[in-house]
Amino acid sequence: MSIAAIETYFFEHPLARPFHPTWVPMHEQTANRCLILKLITDDGLEGIAAASVFSEEQARLLRFIVQDTIGQFLIGADPKDVELLAEVVRLYGFMIGGRPWLVEAALWDLVGKMAGEPLCRYWGGARTELELYASTGELATVEHAPERALAARDAGFRAIKLRARHFDYREDLEAVRAVRAAVGDTMRILVDANQGWTLSPLGVKWDYETALAFCRGVEDLDVYWVEEPLHRFDYDGLARLRAAVDVPIAGGEMNQGMHEFKVLLEKDCLDVYQPDATLAGGVSVAREVARLALARGRSFSPHTWTNGIGFAINLQIAASLTECPFLEYPWEPESWSPEARDAMLTQPFLAKDGAISVPEGAGFGVTLNPEAMGRFAKRL
Ligand SMILES: [Mg+2]
Repeated sequence: MSIAAIETYFFEHPLARPFHPTWVPMHEQTANRCLILKLITDDGLEGIAAASVFSEEQARLLRFIVQDTIGQFLIGADPKDVELLAEVVRLYGFMIGGRPWLVEAALWDLVGKMAGEPLCRYWGGARTELELYASTGELATVEHAPERALAARDAGFRAIKLRARHFDYREDLEAVRAVRAAVGDTMRILVDANQGWTLSPLGVKWDYETALAFCRGVEDLDVYWVEEPLHRFDYDGLARLRAAVDVPIAGGEMNQGMHEFKVLLEKDCLDVYQPDATLAGGVSVAREVARLALARGRSFSPHTWTNGIGFAINLQIAASLTECPFLEYPWEPESWSPEARDAMLTQPFLAKDGAISVPEGAGFGVTLNPEAMGRFAKRL
């Protein structure tokens, strides 16, 4: 079996309400936009993956990298040569950029479909359900944060992630305190400061002292982890912070490649490693980081905030492991809803009692919705 054709689509599905993610200062997101990649074999199997983009122009640049450069190595190749082909992807990721990691994911989707198994089973895992945390994406005020947490609890979640992004970190502390007072001991609380990349002075940039003060400030609030309290390349700062505080430190969603994760692991920067297979350099990178983290007694919980296909990819990796405390479930029901996030799929991933069933279909277990593709996708 070999790859016979490559198709790429710009997918753009409007959101019911504009979304203001804390991690992109001054940005208003009005649609779920991504490049969808199909690798089609000579006997008709389709390997599917996706990458988030800001615009059709960015999708066209990524299409050029994926189809016109990497694509010449894919046509005629056996999808099972995924290790070799992933090296080609990393080479072009280095030479041109653009995070073309969706190519390796689409290859894995084919490998799973050739085997007739969900990838988590193919990789030897046995989990059929994963507990989720409701991952909010917008900054909640001190007044609004408790009602948001209670809404998540009413929706069945037993864990919520808040964003810390006030200009004064003490307001973030107040918001966490207000949420803890509202939910008592009925929910886990996670906090994401999104300092992995910052745009100072437009954004909010924490220095070491601020990160330390925030982490110490939540120590009596039973916070499950503080995520990205410092820049993703501040390895020494992260290691120093982790050693200085009791609250677990999470991060790594935007670190790329084993060479960066190697430093994070060697310096013992994090308690929870969060590589996203669609952002961190590929499925193989995310799986390897997970194994290395678990081997040294650290935890793994992948970032998933891209789109329904990206969620499915990271879900299969998490389900292939014996340990993954919670899986991130993007949750802004009025804007970044499951229906908008997963609009390209035949079925959205819907949480039930704060958990998600692992799809039983082969590969990543997701199918493109022909009606949605007809309406919202443009062949590039
Ligand atoms: Mg994060």
